[in-house]
Amino acid sequence: MTDNKATDKSNERHKARMQEQKANVDKRIAAAQQDKGLLLVITGNGKGKSTSGFGTVARAVGHGLKASVVQYVKGGWECGERNLLEKNGVEFHVMGTGFTWETQDKDTDIQAAQAAWQHSKTLLADPSINLVLLDEITYMVTYKYIDLDEVLAALEARPKDQHVIITGRACHRAIIDIADTVSEVRPVKHAFDNGIKAQKGIDW
Ligand code: ATP
Ligand code: MG
Repeated sequence: MTDNKATDKSNERHKARMQEQKANVDKRIAAAQQDKGLLLVITGNGKGKSTSGFGTVARAVGHGLKASVVQYVKGGWECGERNLLEKNGVEFHVMGTGFTWETQDKDTDIQAAQAAWQHSKTLLADPSINLVLLDEITYMVTYKYIDLDEVLAALEARPKDQHVIITGRACHRAIIDIADTVSEVRPVKHAFDNGIKAQKGIDW
């Protein structure tokens, strides 16, 4: 009997708290009225940046939106997302060289980065593209292979309803400043640190 009363009280308190929470959430949803093309940044040292970008591309394509991908850094591996998304109408532009520490040729890297950037600029000026993923572009800015001010200008001047996702470690502060949504992925553990090699379908 006493137990039942305590349970009833606890349920009532829970209900009141949930009602209050729902009212707050509803108020915030009602207040969010703007539509706009978003700039998203996924940065940090943890795993999950590119997969998040590609996941969002898949989400957009699932709604019939047009998405395009530029991959700024590519290792020797094929890319599972590319195999899938190209079949679904997503165009990929892949910077031809591998990682900088593999090519060890700065001039070739700069040329490839510039070619990828010229292509990115045409995407950022094309109102028919709803979503642009600039995968690993942060490194090109850090190495100064592409000019930060040019990147900022192209992002600011893009069609107003076009979404852009930027991924890569150590995103420049100036890009974070103009972004709408920024997530930093923090490494808690990574299998590689325990001697496990990159796994197909998980790491590439
Ligand atoms: P993913 O493509 O899996 O989302 P990411 O884009 O967050 O990873 P990158 O820095 O682009 O990470 O590295 C790509 C590759 O390096 C992936 O195979 C990923 O599993 C691996 N990787 C990512 N973070 C770490 C880490 N902290 N330690 C070791 N390997 C990592
Ligand atoms: Mg990545």
